[in-house]
Amino acid sequence: MSLAVALHPWGRPGHLTSQNNQLYIDGVNTTELIEQYGSPLYVYSEAKLRHNAEDILSNFRRVHANTTVCYASKANANIAVLQVLKDAGLSIEINSSGEFFKAKTAGYSAQDMVFNGVAKLRVELEQVIAEDIKAINVDSVAELERILSVAQDLNKKANVTLRIVPEIKGGAIAGWETGTSDSKFGMTREEQLTAIALIIQHPEFLTMTGIHAHIGTQVTDLSTYQKEADFLIAYAKEVSALLPYPLQHINLGGGYPKNYSSSQENWRTVAEHYQKKYRTDVDFDAIAKILIQPITDSLGSDIEIIVEPGRSMMSDTAILLSRIECDKQRSAFPVYYLDAGYNILFDIFSGWYFHMVNANRADDTDTKLCRIVGPLCDSSDTYYDIEGEGRVKSLLATEPALSAHHATLEQVLVHQPNLRELPANTQNGDIIALLDTGAYALEMMNDYCGRLSAAAVLTDMQQGSKLIRRRAEPEDLLRFDVF
Ligand SMILES: *Cc1c(COP(=O)(O)O)cnc(C)c1O
Repeated sequence: MSLAVALHPWGRPGHLTSQNNQLYIDGVNTTELIEQYGSPLYVYSEAKLRHNAEDILSNFRRVHANTTVCYASKANANIAVLQVLKDAGLSIEINSSGEFFKAKTAGYSAQDMVFNGVAKLRVELEQVIAEDIKAINVDSVAELERILSVAQDLNKKANVTLRIVPEIKGGAIAGWETGTSDSKFGMTREEQLTAIALIIQHPEFLTMTGIHAHIGTQVTDLSTYQKEADFLIAYAKEVSALLPYPLQHINLGGGYPKNYSSSQENWRTVAEHYQKKYRTDVDFDAIAKILIQPITDSLGSDIEIIVEPGRSMMSDTAILLSRIECDKQRSAFPVYYLDAGYNILFDIFSGWYFHMVNANRADDTDTKLCRIVGPLCDSSDTYYDIEGEGRVKSLLATEPALSAHHATLEQVLVHQPNLRELPANTQNGDIIALLDTGAYALEMMNDYCGRLSAAAVLTDMQQGSKLIRRRAEPEDLLRFDVF
């Protein structure tokens, strides 16, 4: 079995294409983008942003018309991106007063926002309650007490939605009554009963608007959604019996998956567990049927359903272009050094896989295996899982008997294949495109090692490209230092 995901096919008709061996995005030549804007460069697609918004709205509203999509802005809160999504009909999910500020700057009103977080600050609560936010998703009894106190001080009524721990994880139900949650999020059923009692005692300051659950990210197992639906339906009925008024909404959170390559074909050459993480048939149509439909059937069409997709709105809307700046020949394979490290694409730090295409040798079929690394002075700055591989090696060295379980160890410890397949002629100076880098990228970019944050552009078929985030300059490195 090979150690690399197959390079071909990578194309996405109408979006990622090739002409004269060059990679094009939305009809724009990527190597010309690098000449115009420099490297590394994020290239977002307005057409894809609009497509994703339309895709979730149409599929979910076909099943449940009263569905509100609150885009999880931590996946990307660039103002131009937020404006496109607002124009495409989405509401917004925020996590902090910083995201509240950005959402308002992009034109969203507090009535279009839901506010999540495990430890909201008093000052943050004051801001959103003063503007009558649609819902504060409450994470603990202590937080509810703080909300009550702020509402009393402001003489305002706060809309609160309680985040429940459904004890559903990775497709397995730990059991409602057994044990406590092992995550830091949400409230247990007992805590919720305390919270509901407090809400009922203070009707002039607190309205219980709904219940909320968010299970994880890139949830590729359909049965998890079925369990979530079953759980929330039963819980909504239980809560409704306690409240003197009906629930306004049920918030299902996000976590919907996206594919991290163009085709199932790519994954045939590597161990199956990689494919389970990065490839999925679960789309919004399937989720509508298994998650939304049962809620409509059981709770009726009047209740508002809120969802909070982040990754699934964003990941396939951008590519990252990065130049090869250096190379070395090591044992069996060459090593190429990109100018983008985990400071530019933070998810590689945790070993996430992104498919790579050589933007100036896009159609070359002759390929070779190589290792790809970033430019940072940190050994985790690699496009393979150096930490996971190291753990497997040291376990096998200390416990030789474990070699019988080599495959299982790799499955548990190694997050992505250790080599890349790229065109055989790949060399220093080539531009590598990393696909599906739209989610959790701009937000987590930083200037570590004094390396300047990348620029971002937005393309569309009609107008070519426009800058939506400028490249950092050396002066930006001094902006927080006091001297
Ligand atoms: C992060 C987050 C989301 C978005 O998750 P995705 O996996 O990006 O869809 C939604 N809701 C809450 C509460 C979150 O913390």
